[in-house]
Amino acid sequence: MTRIVSRFPLPPMSLGTERHLTVHSYGDPDAAPKAYLQAGLHAGELAGSLALHHLIRRLDAGEHEILGHVMIVPVANPIGQSQVMRGTMSGRFAESDGSNFNRGFPDISEDVAASVRGAMTRDAAANVTLVREAIGEVLADRAGMAATEIDYLRITLLRLACDADLALDLHCEEEGLVHLYVDAMHWPGASDIDRLLKSHVTLLTSPTAAMSFDEAMTAPWRKLQAEGVEAGCLTSTIELRGAADVGDALAEEDADGLYQILQHRGIVAGAEEVEIEDETPVRAGPVEGMERIIAPTPGIISFRVPLGAEVTAGQPIADLVDPTADDPAEGRIELTAGCDGLLYARRAQRFAHTGATVAKVASSRPVTSRTTHLTD
Ligand SMILES: [Zn+2]
Repeated sequence: MTRIVSRFPLPPMSLGTERHLTVHSYGDPDAAPKAYLQAGLHAGELAGSLALHHLIRRLDAGEHEILGHVMIVPVANPIGQSQVMRGTMSGRFAESDGSNFNRGFPDISEDVAASVRGAMTRDAAANVTLVREAIGEVLADRAGMAATEIDYLRITLLRLACDADLALDLHCEEEGLVHLYVDAMHWPGASDIDRLLKSHVTLLTSPTAAMSFDEAMTAPWRKLQAEGVEAGCLTSTIELRGAADVGDALAEEDADGLYQILQHRGIVAGAEEVEIEDETPVRAGPVEGMERIIAPTPGIISFRVPLGAEVTAGQPIADLVDPTADDPAEGRIELTAGCDGLLYARRAQRFAHTGATVAKVASSRPVTSRTTHLTD
């Protein structure tokens, strides 16, 4: 299958340096539907990048015709990947301004809504086209105003993705099960993604002020949905297990799931070959039902339950141990789950400073102990 490789330069922040985004594309750029896949926005989260490497190999093999357009950005954050702090990649936060790379994307929903207001017709498809054009124009203006390499990176990623019907942003937890974040307005329409990636739970989001990539992609459509426009793009953040779960076997499995999503959604031929098992109910709930179990004191973490455990409210899930306590019997506290649910993520470092998230539990109802509504 013919693949086009393009490089999009980022503006240099110092003399003699320049970074760029590498984009692999298949199919006619004007063909629909379009899928956009990126990984490594949090640069140390490598499982998605390896999965996209395998997806590229699979698409290159030309097993099925490309019906739409596929765009793949396997390393979405070359800035973060270049941040090496005393031998360890530091790819979650920008060293230059302290920002989380997956926050602070621009909210262009007001500008887009103002641009298309009054121009809508009863033709739903034409409205989607109109909105996409407006999004492209607003982002082009914003690109001209980007002051730093990081701002430019964020806007470039949005510009590459903004005319897609499906945009998938691949991340991972420190330790975790496969799970998804999807805006609640796309549920249950996105359940094929959950099933084909063998996700354990989907967290349904609603708007925050944080502006992760998925939220920035969704914001204009969410705003216009209230004015009767159907959403032209489904964006999902996908957490592919834990940071250490990186290897060809898992990546091939994930690439297979991604490939089947492309087939099922008519972007790659062979939809009829995709079997979606629909007997087991998809587990999904509001992101407000995600409980972060927080360390109230510092201590060494000793987990009592593994990833994937079904826990009940009040059940001890870990001990926090203080080996400096005068009386060892006093140097240990239990951390308990505050709700019934699935323990789907754990802290990798076995030490918790006060306030650290030790584990996450997904319940079917909103919980009161949540501290944020943010995707990871
Ligand atoms: Zn991440």
